Amino acid sequence: MVLKGIAASQGIAIAKVYKLQQPVLTISKQEANVEEELAKLEKAFAKTISDIEAIKDRASANLSEEELAIFDAHLMMANDPEMKGQIEQMIKDQSVNAEYATQEVANMMVAMFESMDNDYFKERAADVKDVTFRLQCNIVGAVIPDLTAIDEEVIIVAEDLTPSDTAQLNKNYTKGFATAIGGRTSHSAIMARSLEIPAVVGCKGILEEANHGDMLILDAVEGKVIINPSDELVKEYLEKKAKFEEEKEALKVLVNQKSVTVDGHEVEIAGNIGTPKDVDGVLTNGGEGVGLYRTEFLYMDSENDFPSEDEQFEAYKTVLEHMEGKKVVIRTLDIGGDKRLNYFTFPEEMNPFLGYRAIRLCLDRTDIFRTQLRALIRASAYGRLCIMFPMIATLNEFRNAKAIFEEEKAKLVAEGVKIGDKIEVGMMIEIPAAAVLADKFAKEADFFSIGTNDLVQYSMAADRMSEKVSYLYQPLNPSLLRLIKMAIDGAHKEGKWCGMCGEMAGDELAAPVLLGLGLDEFSMSASSILRARKMIRSLSKAEMTELAAKAIELETMDDVVELVKNSLK
Ligand code: PEP
Ligand code: MG
Repeated sequence: MVLKGIAASQGIAIAKVYKLQQPVLTISKQEANVEEELAKLEKAFAKTISDIEAIKDRASANLSEEELAIFDAHLMMANDPEMKGQIEQMIKDQSVNAEYATQEVANMMVAMFESMDNDYFKERAADVKDVTFRLQCNIVGAVIPDLTAIDEEVIIVAEDLTPSDTAQLNKNYTKGFATAIGGRTSHSAIMARSLEIPAVVGCKGILEEANHGDMLILDAVEGKVIINPSDELVKEYLEKKAKFEEEKEALKVLVNQKSVTVDGHEVEIAGNIGTPKDVDGVLTNGGEGVGLYRTEFLYMDSENDFPSEDEQFEAYKTVLEHMEGKKVVIRTLDIGGDKRLNYFTFPEEMNPFLGYRAIRLCLDRTDIFRTQLRALIRASAYGRLCIMFPMIATLNEFRNAKAIFEEEKAKLVAEGVKIGDKIEVGMMIEIPAAAVLADKFAKEADFFSIGTNDLVQYSMAADRMSEKVSYLYQPLNPSLLRLIKMAIDGAHKEGKWCGMCGEMAGDELAAPVLLGLGLDEFSMSASSILRARKMIRSLSKAEMTELAAKAIELETMDDVVELVKNSLK
C-alpha cells in the first residue's frame, strides 16, 4: 500500500512502524468473576508502578528535580492503599470487571478534587486521570506509547508530533516519521529538518492503514510511504538510500567553502535552530551563522511557567559561544497561533493566527518581553547578536519594541553589566503590510529577515496548517516575488542587509530567483545548507538578476517554475 504525503525533511528510511497514538478505551460495566478481576487488578497495579518508575528513570537524565516531582506524585498515587482498596471493594460488592471499577473510583476522585477551590488539588485531578488511565490500559492489555522507551530502529507514525514529542526522540533509533497532518512549514516539519530525520507529513490515511510493527518504507524525497513493501521494493529502496547518503556525503567537501557565485558575488548561508542543541548541526553542515533561533521552543519546553531570565540567558549564551563570533539572529518570543503554552491561557479568538500573538502579545505583556530582552542583552557579551522581532505590521510596533529594548539595555549598562558593543535590532517581514512599507522600516531597523511561511500564508489568506488549501503555498508566485523584492530593495536603499528565514530560503528552485533579487542571507534547516551552497556556487549573479527581473513580470507560479527550470538546464 502506497500513501502520498509531503516530503518535509529529505531522506529515506526503512524500518518498523512505531505508532504514537493513545489507546482509546471503551469501558463498560460487565459481570465478572471476583477472584479473576482482583488478580488482574493486582497485576495491573504492579505493572503501573514499574512503568512509572521506568519512565522516571529514563527521564531523569533530561529533567530537573522539579520536573521529576510529577512522577513521584504519580507513584504515590499508584502506591496509595486507599484508592486500590476502593476499587477492590467495588469489584467485590458488585462482581464487576476491574477496568470498570477503576473508572468509577477514578470519576469519584476526579470530581472531588475538581470541586475544591485550590490549584494544588485541581492538579491532583489530572494525576488521578493519568494514573488510572495507565492502570486501565494495563488491566486490558493496551499499550501506551512511550517515545523514551524505544530501543530498536523504528519509523514513528502519528497524527502530528508536538515539540515535546520531538524533544524526546532518540535519533539512534528513530529513523524517520510520518504524520497524518501538517505541511512543509508546520512545526513538526521544521523540527524534523533541524533534527535531520527524514519525514513525510500530511500523509492522510497513515493512522488507519499502518499498524504497530508493520514494515515501512519512508520515501521523504518523493513524499510517499509504502506499507509492508515487497522484498524487491525493499531492495530497490536500500539502493536508493545508499545513493542518497553517498550524495549527501559528497557535499561535505563544501563545508568550509564560501557561498559564492561563479561571477564572484558572495551571499551568506545560515541555519535555523529551535534549541541550543541544534547549533552542532549548523556547524557541521558549514552554516555561516544562525539566521533564526526560534526561542518559542524554550518557552514551550518549559512545563509550569515562563522560563526565567537566567534560564534564557544560559540558552542564548550557549548558542552565541558555540557560534564563536559568527552572526546569531535570535527572534523574540513568537507564541500564539498554533504555538501554545501549558501555563498561559490565550484568549478565545476566532482566528488565532490573526490574533493575539508574537510581538502583539509581547507589547501587551511587557513583563514577559522585558525578561527576554534582558536575557538577550546580557548574552550579547558572548558573541555577535542580532535581535529580531516577529510579526511586525506597523512602524509603531517596531518603535515600541525597540524603545523597550533600549530601556532595558540602558538599565543593564547602569547596573554595570557587560554587554556586546554592537547589537543589531531588526525585524521579520512576514506580514504584507510590512513588505509594502519596507523602505520606511529600513530607516529604523538594522536588518530584515523575510519569513515566507507566514508571508505566503497572509498574502494568500491560506492557513499554513491546512492541507486543503496547501496548493496556495506558492512562494514562487510573482505576487510573492514582488513583495520579496520590495523588502530587499527597501533594505538596500538604506544600506541594510536582508535575509530570509522562511522555508523558501532552502528551496532549490527559489534560490536562483532570490539570488537575482539580491537576497544577502539565506537561512534554512541545517540539512539544506550544503545543497544550497552547491547551487549558489553553480550560478551567475548577473544571469540570475536578469532571470529575477523576468520572473516578477510573469503571471503564475507555474510560469516562474518553468522559467527557473529552463535556466537551470
Ligand atoms: C516564517 O513565518 O517564515 C518564519 C520563519 O517563522 P515561523 O515559521 O516560525 O512562523
Ligand atoms: Mg512566522
